[in-house]
Amino acid sequence: MSIIPYGRQDINQSDIDAVAAVLRSDFLTQGPAVPVFEKAIANSCGVQHAVAVNSATSALHIACLALGVGKGDIVWTTPITFVATANCALYCGATVDFVDVDPRTYNLSVTNLAEKLVLAKVRGNLPKVVIPVHMCGQPCDMSGIHALSQQFGFKIIEYASHAIGGRYKGEPIGNCRSSDITVFSFHPVKIITTGEGGVAVTNDPILARNMRLLRSHGITSDSAEMARHPAPEIWNYEQIGLGFNYRMTDIHAALGCSQMHRLIEFVTKRHVIAERYDKLLSDLPVVTPWQHPDSYSGYHLYVIRLKLKEINKTQRQVIDALHAAGILVNLHYIPVYRQPYY
Ligand SMILES: *Cc1c(COP(=O)(O)O)cnc(C)c1O
Repeated sequence: MSIIPYGRQDINQSDIDAVAAVLRSDFLTQGPAVPVFEKAIANSCGVQHAVAVNSATSALHIACLALGVGKGDIVWTTPITFVATANCALYCGATVDFVDVDPRTYNLSVTNLAEKLVLAKVRGNLPKVVIPVHMCGQPCDMSGIHALSQQFGFKIIEYASHAIGGRYKGEPIGNCRSSDITVFSFHPVKIITTGEGGVAVTNDPILARNMRLLRSHGITSDSAEMARHPAPEIWNYEQIGLGFNYRMTDIHAALGCSQMHRLIEFVTKRHVIAERYDKLLSDLPVVTPWQHPDSYSGYHLYVIRLKLKEINKTQRQVIDALHAAGILVNLHYIPVYRQPYY
């Protein structure tokens, strides 16, 4: 029996050769591969700056910090996401609140967002940052969220790990037309992989600079940024802020560069599979993924909802039967506010 895994990386000989070339080179980290990978991401997204890090969780953390999130601030996100999307605000000492989703797309609902903002304005607890997640790869209504950000004065981190290679209104996800920063993950279950890895992209040079500092201890080696006084001229770096070691290695970046060559191929294949599922599931008592006409999904996930009243089985029974048939489905996602920690 062949198993259909929940997610699996696609590694070819070129990927292996790219990683092996780094292993034979002078630099395993802080060499030339990371900037090449960053350039490939920026070009593919149509964005100015890309800052590669060791995970999307790290990218979310430095994105929040670069936007000034701290103690006393409030960050809003969707409850239907992985916990990291909310945790990043807590790392900064901020508090988190959730905006309910649109039942058709499972994305943060702009109607609910607008209502919650009006209330928050009255109560004086408006969010500093809102983090919409492109659930399953289908982009959120970014025009709507952006318009509200202008009206209520919050910043936007677009969480797009499911959506790399996707499009919104014909433009690539990650171009940051309607957001301050977009974050992608390269965990092996995602669309392209670096093993572990993530990136934050932006058109704002100051945000990009601050995120570069934050990913490597707050250290700069740009002489224009160094005080040097009273240090001798030969001291070649200075710590000018407090940062972390969130760097991506050249080994990971080389895999990412190689995978980027097949991004379009990967997303196209996901669409072919999704169309096949749409057809084969159309007569069953399930809701298949509705797609907004503005969106071209990255299709990280194909989520179905069970019409439980028609099925006469519990969710557990359906999942167990699918597992027994070698189809390794998961339940996505446990709403973040249902996690004991929250
Ligand atoms: C993958 C994923 C993350 C975490 O990404 P890492 O690179 O593993 O840190 C967070 N949130 C969502 C919704 C994800 O899909």
